[in-house]
Amino acid sequence: MPARPRGLTDGQAALFPLQRPSPPPSERSMETPLSNAFLFDLDGTLVDSVYQHVLAWREALDHEGIALSVWRIHRKIGMSGGLFTHQLLREIDKDVGPDMAERLRVLHAEAYQRLVHSVVPLPGASDLLKTLSEQNIPWAIATSGRMETAGANLKALGVDPDIATVVTRDQVQHAKPDPDLFVEAARRLDVPIERSIVVGDSIWDMLAAARCRALGVGFLSGGYGQNELERAGALRVYEDPGDLLHHLDEVASRSN
Ligand SMILES: [Mg+2]
Repeated sequence: MPARPRGLTDGQAALFPLQRPSPPPSERSMETPLSNAFLFDLDGTLVDSVYQHVLAWREALDHEGIALSVWRIHRKIGMSGGLFTHQLLREIDKDVGPDMAERLRVLHAEAYQRLVHSVVPLPGASDLLKTLSEQNIPWAIATSGRMETAGANLKALGVDPDIATVVTRDQVQHAKPDPDLFVEAARRLDVPIERSIVVGDSIWDMLAAARCRALGVGFLSGGYGQNELERAGALRVYEDPGDLLHHLDEVASRSN
């Protein structure tokens, strides 16, 4: 059953401006239509890869002799790898030094490469991006993953990072739940972050959106629940990219 977005309160409505980003000054005119920009998380938002990542992390942790239940790993997915391992190991009261963090990162990337063949786009993902492009609504992908894992996901999605705007973990100082990835994506699109819509499947995406005053839109496709996403700041929650595409007029400003 589709997740029905809840109505906005008056306060939220005030935060949900029907504003559109300014085009570059050279292109600006009274006739230029303006629209919001969409800044997408990748794993669990555009590609169905959350469980492959969870299992890859478990394999990496197993290799280091660290036993951790799969559900505990899942709860931290969406953070950057470094922060992720630090928080995971804090739960079992174990310190992680830079050497172990790096070993875990490499082990995870190797394990993920063995699982990535099963990663496919989430329903409607390609159509959503295509529709945004057709409507001249700017969009970008901002992922906590490094290109070593994100590259295969982008390939599965049919997005060429040399053409589309893609920001990866290795291109910013801090990853989610810090907002650097989304701020950088908005900067590259030349859209004010306050007029951007951050779309993600995890509470870390929603927290990052709140920290940079972007609007948060949540998806259920990564395994987090609607209430969790809303408590973390999501103004709307949809099942997956196809569900957002079906309700695009609820969140996107008209571009023409
Ligand atoms: Mg995600």
